[in-house]
Order: sequence, then C-alpha cells, then structure tokens
Amino acid sequence: VVQPGVSGERSYDKLLGGLLADGLDERSCRSRYQSVMYRRRPGKQPSPYLVSKLRQQEALQRRCGPGTAAYSHALEQLRSGRSGGDTASQGCKYLVSISYRGLGNRILATASAFLYAVLTGRVLLVDPSNEMGELFCEPFPDTTWLLPPGFPLASYTNFSITTAESYGNMLRNNVIRTDVGDVPASQLPASQLPAFSYVHLDHDATEQDNFFFCDEDQRVLRNISWLVMRTDCYIAPGLFLVMGFQEELGRLFPEPDTLFHHIVRYLFHPNNHVWGLVTRYYDAYLATAQQRVGIQVRVFGSQPNSWELLEQIMKCTQKEKLLPELLAAADPASPAPSRKTKAVLVTSLKSWYYETLKGMYWEHATATGEAVSVHQPSHEEFQRFGARSHDAKAWAEIYLLSLTDALVTTAWSTFGYVAQGLGGLTPWVMYRQDNDTHVPDPPCGRDVSMEPCFHAPPFYDCRLKRGADTGKIVPQVQHCIDMSWGLKII
Ligand code: GDP
Repeated sequence: VVQPGVSGERSYDKLLGGLLADGLDERSCRSRYQSVMYRRRPGKQPSPYLVSKLRQQEALQRRCGPGTAAYSHALEQLRSGRSGGDTASQGCKYLVSISYRGLGNRILATASAFLYAVLTGRVLLVDPSNEMGELFCEPFPDTTWLLPPGFPLASYTNFSITTAESYGNMLRNNVIRTDVGDVPASQLPASQLPAFSYVHLDHDATEQDNFFFCDEDQRVLRNISWLVMRTDCYIAPGLFLVMGFQEELGRLFPEPDTLFHHIVRYLFHPNNHVWGLVTRYYDAYLATAQQRVGIQVRVFGSQPNSWELLEQIMKCTQKEKLLPELLAAADPASPAPSRKTKAVLVTSLKSWYYETLKGMYWEHATATGEAVSVHQPSHEEFQRFGARSHDAKAWAEIYLLSLTDALVTTAWSTFGYVAQGLGGLTPWVMYRQDNDTHVPDPPCGRDVSMEPCFHAPPFYDCRLKRGADTGKIVPQVQHCIDMSWGLKII
C-alpha cells in the first residue's frame, strides 16, 4: 500500500501487509524490503490468520531447524531407522523438498512444499542443488531453510518413481496399508512406521503415489517424522481436495486465488546479484514509461523462428488493446504524437521476436500516436541446466515480467506462472498452437485467475475410491484454460 509519507515522500508498506517478518538485515538481501518500491500496484493483503501462521512457522523453523538439538536428535532417529513420533523428536517433523528442471518448475515445487509444511506443521528444508541454494535470500529469520550437507539419506537426490521407500511403492508392496487389518495404519504406533517416506509427486506419479491427496493417506503420513518430496509441479490445487485441509486453507486464504501470490512473495527474494540485474534494467528501460506490457515468448532452442507465433503475439496484444495497432507505412492519417509511452518487455530464449516487433514499431506509426519501445534483457538461445549466470538471468527476467502492468504469457509455461503470481497479475494466455502453422483463434484469452496450473493432477475420488474428474470435486478447483486436464485454484 502506498501512503503519503510525513515529509511528502511516498512511504511504502515494505512488509506487504505483514506477510514479511520485520527486522531482517536489509543489506544482505536488498530485494526483500525494496521490492514494494518497484511495484505500481499494491499486491493483495494477506489474511491476519496467514500472517500469524507464518510467524508460527518461522518460530518452528528456528526451534527445529539445522543447528538445534531437536534437529540433531531427529537426524539420529533417521540414521537409526526408527520413527520417533512426536515425543521422541520434540515435536519436530520435517519435509525435505527436492526440485529440479527449469527455474519456474523449481519455484512452483518449493512453494507447494512450503504450503504442505505449513498445513502439516513440518519444518521445510530445501535441497540446495540445482542452484536452489544460490538464487534466493533466506526466507526465515535466524535460521536456514537449506538442507545441510551430510544428510543421512545419502542418495536422496536420486529418489524417483522406483524408490522402494516411496509412499506409493510402500502401499503397493504392503509395507504400509491404509485399508485393511485390525489397526488402521493411521493409528499404528509411530515405532511401527518407517523413519521416513519419499513422496513422489512428479509428473510421472502413479495412482498409488497420488493417494497422497487422500485423507486416509494423510493420516498415515502425519506420523512419519521425515518426508522427502520430489515434484516438478504446483500441487496446491491437489491439497484442496484433501478434506482434512479444507478448513485451514479457507482460513489461511479467504481469497483462494491469491494463495500462490502470497507464498511466492513470502518465500522467494532475489539475492543481491539478481536484484541488481532487476533494478538496473527496470530503472534504465521500464521505469519512465506510462505503461509496461510484459510478453513472455516461451520457445525451445530447436524450434525455428515462427511467423505464426509472431502473428499470434500481434493479434493477441492488439485485440486485447495491450498494444496499439500499426498504420501502413505512409499513412497520411498518422495522428500527432500523443506523448503517451508504452514499454514492452519481451522475454524469450530467442531475440528474433523482439527484434521484429521492435522494427515494426519503429517503421510504422501507431494508430493511437503512442510511442512504443521494445526491450529484451537477454537471449540465451538454449535452456541450460545448472549454469549459474543462466539461472540468474532467468530469475531476473521472471521478476521483471512481474513488475509490468499487463502480462501476456505462453500456455503451459511455469516461467510465466511465477511472474504472474509475484505480480498479482491475471495474464492473457497465448493458447498453444496445435501445429506450428496454425494461429489459434482466438489467439489468447484472459486467464480465470493468477494461480499456476497443476500439470499432473490426480484423477481419483478418494471417497468413492474410483477415477473421477477432480476439477469438479470442490468449488475452489477447476480445470486450467491453458491445459485442459490441469487443475487450478480460482
Ligand atoms: P517452463 O519450462 O516454460 O515451464 O519454465 P521453466 O522456468 O521451468 O524452464 C525453462 C527454463 O529455460 C528457464 O528456467 C530458463 O533457464 C530458460 N528460459 C526459458 N525462457 C526464458 C527466457 O525468456 N529468458 C531466460 N533468461 N531464460 C529462459
């Protein structure tokens, strides 16, 4: 919220309505408290309940996190293979989040893990590989969210669909049973449960893995001290399907479609290097324009430059009045310059779309007389994994997109989802082209919410114990407009 300051300067609500904790060192993480100065629109206000829950989670992270007696104790138990239950591990339970693939996927995965940790009273620890330990500031005061070296499950980063200790495989092999026997697994003494379970919620998760989204299974998982989770998706819509979480989710997020917006602004602060990339670019190219339009052109390195995609971008932005129409080269009716300025931020692995767009707005007058400048920070050509400067640029560009006033994204792309969530922007999504020679009609559509889409959701009704359309079970969750089988919170 921007309020008039005492001395006539603008004063900013740098804590975002209490979303952020106060008192963290500003120099070591400039973005945390400065980001508000770069946003024209105030973000959504968090509920007081969410604010208090975040402070509680921070206290839990400090009490049980790395370096504490509770943490050493819990590691001992994990090494010994015994599950401690609540008393033995001083009430501390843990969720280790493994994320991989592109930066968008990793941010969605980590945000999802955090939500699950909050809902289940677990400490979140993030596997630092894949640059997860490099790009962000620590989100929790006076502790670390990074899993320290020497974690006893030596090969945890290789856990996959075939890992014997995955929850799905333990169910399949009857190591854990939820449905039969005198004593339901949810009431088994902790000593009879494994010390840890691996939760595989990747795009290739099996039906058993996806029982994670059922109440009975959540009652079992609750008693296991250590969970290791791998996902490349935004699983929050699936958590709305668990009845046991619904009331709490309703209290935390009275406006369900702001869930990711709050979590991503709370957790992910660019480190000082990335913040330099963001602010220098913003100040030099975007700050003075009256309006900023972000266009995310997700292409793959092997794809040739496509006139059809360029046509889709033009049709979408002009139809939705995000960019002005162009007049023919020597149109005598050119209006006088309106002195209105519009800056277009293009992000893409390729520079051709940006260069062609820029050329068009140089060579032709606009129908409105507006001056349109076109900018693209980088063109990395190919997606790369584990390259530090590549990830830093991707993070800076996601953040810059989030600072625009209107955003056009590419269907299916998690890169765009993160930008829209950070900015609190409901994007125009460019629909996927069925084949490369066909421009979809309409070329794009306004999304139903600013939430990301869960690309690999379960298709199972836990109560009826059979396959079902999970987009029709609870009112907060429906199918995505950019991926028909995906689920999103509305
Ligand atoms: P998704 O694959 O579209 O869902 O998005 P991800 O972020 O998960 O993965 C794509 C990765 O490719 C990014 O993390 C970047 O490393 C790279 N990439 C894709 N598009 C861009 C772009 O416009 N700018 C930059 N700098 N990198 C990009």
